[in-house]
Amino acid sequence: MDELNFDLASKLVEPSYIHQARDAHRTRLGRVRRLLSQRRLPERGWDDADVRWMMGQLAAMDSNQFPEQVGVGEREGRVYSSVVRERHWGMAHGMGRAGDVNADQPKAAGASLLVRLAQYLVRDAIRRSGFESCRAVGLLPVATGMALTLCLLALRRQRPGCRRVLWLRVDQKSCLKCVTAADCEPVVVESRLQGDQVVIDREALQRAWDALPAVSDENGTRDTRGVLCVISTTSCFAPRAPDDVVRIAQWCRAHDVPHVINNAYGLQARRCCGRICAASRAGRVDVVVQSFDKNFMVPVGGAVLAARHSDMVQRVLQLYPGRASVAPVADLFITLLQMGADGYAQLLREREHWNGHFRRQVAQVAQRYGERLLHTDDNPISFAMTLQHITESCAVEPAHIGSMLYARRCSGSRAILATERRCIEGIEFVGYGAHVAHYPCAYLSMACAIGITQRDVEVFCERLDAVLRQVVAVQRVSGWNGPLNETGDHVSDADEHG
Ligand SMILES: *Cc1c(COP(=O)(O)O)cnc(C)c1O
Repeated sequence: MDELNFDLASKLVEPSYIHQARDAHRTRLGRVRRLLSQRRLPERGWDDADVRWMMGQLAAMDSNQFPEQVGVGEREGRVYSSVVRERHWGMAHGMGRAGDVNADQPKAAGASLLVRLAQYLVRDAIRRSGFESCRAVGLLPVATGMALTLCLLALRRQRPGCRRVLWLRVDQKSCLKCVTAADCEPVVVESRLQGDQVVIDREALQRAWDALPAVSDENGTRDTRGVLCVISTTSCFAPRAPDDVVRIAQWCRAHDVPHVINNAYGLQARRCCGRICAASRAGRVDVVVQSFDKNFMVPVGGAVLAARHSDMVQRVLQLYPGRASVAPVADLFITLLQMGADGYAQLLREREHWNGHFRRQVAQVAQRYGERLLHTDDNPISFAMTLQHITESCAVEPAHIGSMLYARRCSGSRAILATERRCIEGIEFVGYGAHVAHYPCAYLSMACAIGITQRDVEVFCERLDAVLRQVVAVQRVSGWNGPLNETGDHVSDADEHG
């Protein structure tokens, strides 16, 4: 309704009622105006009705929704199923153009506006998380691993002839596969133990560099050693600590080597973002990659590139062939509108709060079984407890403890044996899962991630206690050291399920 239509309406319905409705409408328009002009998270999150209305407005700006539109092209935003149309608010043209996934789409003014606004909202959220100097963001409808691959492909155009990636070991398959998928050669920078923590220092990076044969660049002026970039990681499973990205960034600047940071779920931790901010100032950081879903509580499907300078982000977006789905960006846009600045701040605060509580609770359970929390204080999200005595004295594999937890509907914890040899993408890893060869004991890692609730923490700790109690009881009662099945149900006593 515009002003004229409201005037006409007041000739049909009691004008004071229409006046009220017009007032409410103006409030809503005011919200949209602030969003368009300030381009920041709203102080307070929007309610469902506002969001639905806004999405309707945006979708109506796309050509497939225009009244009296006819289309004779091969891609006209036709959607067969009304269920599918509803799921996408009627937006059917995706984002970007053939040559640039970041370009405005002529057939979709609404979706294009949605993407722009989402970029600003995400940038605001990233700054509020602690990466205050973030200026450029790029939204990709692919998850973190694929986004990293796209970054490497963009770098390969910048550094022709360079295929080697100095890869700071992190035992998560997608972290390695993103390198091989870009047809690059991972050069593993090995980690070491520092107390309970697994760390990788700049000296290890230097050693990996020194071990490579000299390769001069295409002008013959500089020795690149064939290195495309360094990939460091700031969010990872304990006992690995986040990389010291400040010193790595300084090293990269000194050696003229691009630096990609995998910050998959680090936006939720002030410490990760603060370090990235400092690294971007003190050294070289080309691009930082993070997941939509792990940071912002949306379904899997997108990743955000962030950087202090826009060059690299632009290059990655320009590399993307063709258009892309706008659905993951729409999910993020809606979520950020509904969270608002206060909702986001509260989620970050709550996570911090439960983080301490969760660690203390697990430490208590651990103590009951002669185990302890590993000292992994540099990791702000993930932590771990030992499974040393339990696995040794009860002759149970850590994987069984993992399966028992899983069978009790606990997901997300990882039981690691730490002596496993695995070949991943043609590279042999000793102690796969532990991020280091020869980690001294088996352990169970957990994460205190955004959105976690008191119930998650408490119920998990109860079930963990029950599982460990059962493992110990089996050993004690039967004296039999054979393997347990997944649920441990073949043993009748000491089970809370009877
Ligand atoms: C989750 C994660 C990935 C892979 O992310 P996808 O979104 O599944 O591609 C890579 N690296 C780290 C550190 C992660 O946590």
